[in-house]
Amino acid sequence: MTEELKTRVCDAIDARADDIIAFAKDVQSEPELGYKEVETTKKVVSMFEDLDLDVETELAITGARARAGSGDFVAAVLGELDALVNPDHPLADPETGAVHACGHNAQLAHLVGSAIGLVGSGVVDELDGAVEFVAVPAEEYLDLDYRRQLLDAGDIEFFGGKQELIRRGYVDDWDAAAMMHAGSNTPDRTITSSFSTNGFVGKFVTYRGKEAHAGAAPEEGINALNAAMLGMNAVNAQRETFRDEDHVRVHPIITRGGDGVNVVPAEVTMESYVRAASIEAVSEVNQSVNRALASGAMGVGGDVEIEDYPGYMPLQTNETLASFYDENARDIVGPDAITEGDQHLSGSTDMGDVTQLVPGIHPWTGGFEGAVHARDFRVVDEEMAYVIPAKLTACMLVDVLTDSEAMDELRAAKAEKRSRESYLDAVRTFRGTTTESYREDADDGSDDS
Ligand SMILES: [Zn+2]
Ligand SMILES: [Zn+2]
Repeated sequence: MTEELKTRVCDAIDARADDIIAFAKDVQSEPELGYKEVETTKKVVSMFEDLDLDVETELAITGARARAGSGDFVAAVLGELDALVNPDHPLADPETGAVHACGHNAQLAHLVGSAIGLVGSGVVDELDGAVEFVAVPAEEYLDLDYRRQLLDAGDIEFFGGKQELIRRGYVDDWDAAAMMHAGSNTPDRTITSSFSTNGFVGKFVTYRGKEAHAGAAPEEGINALNAAMLGMNAVNAQRETFRDEDHVRVHPIITRGGDGVNVVPAEVTMESYVRAASIEAVSEVNQSVNRALASGAMGVGGDVEIEDYPGYMPLQTNETLASFYDENARDIVGPDAITEGDQHLSGSTDMGDVTQLVPGIHPWTGGFEGAVHARDFRVVDEEMAYVIPAKLTACMLVDVLTDSEAMDELRAAKAEKRSRESYLDAVRTFRGTTTESYREDADDGSDDS
């Protein structure tokens, strides 16, 4: 019975494989950054409406969702709408530099393909639960000046779209959540389904000094660039204290290094992440990084302001979902489809946040050459990149939603996880601003530059 349902699902996907591939390429041709995915959302909505689904839009600025089937158990299928910035990529938008170099267009193909498989075939109505198809905004943590404007305007609280969906209550009734992600340097038909990822805190750092003529009177100035360099070196001096098992990554960049070469830099800005495998390790390392960054201002007698923003939570893969996923991958792709891969990845995703509340799966799937985010990232196997992942997710959901024991296992796993309130409490602890002033001429600590 389950096998017959899966055959119908896969036949429905195969019958519209050309449409799914055309949709993926259409999304790829018009890349949009997070919380700006207006046209991309419309493309998804149009595919959902073709299936006679009722669609809700503007979940968090952008985004869309549609539910099919019925029952107490709700499984969500997710696809990320956003592109990233890499102006050197051959497919980059010449104006914005945006490009689907993380394969999120393949995720959307998987999302609409799963809907075609489950809804188009009518199978969803024969399952013991509902499926919610969700196009999610803003996974890439970038374009942060824009997102800070949204934050200041009260339009969002979090930079990550899934975080924002959690806050707004969209995730509350999900009992399981499924997505896929393009594998980096994975041209073959291979899949890694079970692993964890780092969480992180995001950081804006501003060093303030005092401008002066860089040649004639540097002694009159306070060099904010020197403060930043000292701060970064102090962070580097902390690296030997990072425990291997915490998988710590601290990778600052300077976003403003000075204004004119003949003026002592009065203001220098940096951004960084502090990543680690557990929330506790992120918190602990973040404190030492902030102390180290502040020491740069002390060194030159300037000011520093460090603004911390919640980043993403570590990803937890649910093993019930992974074992169904792997079985289907062996059936559909081949007996050697599943590769172990790294068990922990030091990158991050806001699917991690979802998996703090809901049992979830975030497999890496093949068909892509080049490294994600790099200029050489591209699809080399359209069927594997765009069509097969839809079958894998849809068939996994047929397995789950016809198996009361599996649904009980997933409900029990969800009961062990955080509530929305506990999640929000945990993630909000990472928001904060630290200011230190080490100016010798400042009696009140205020900035007099
Ligand atoms: Zn990415
Ligand atoms: Zn991605």
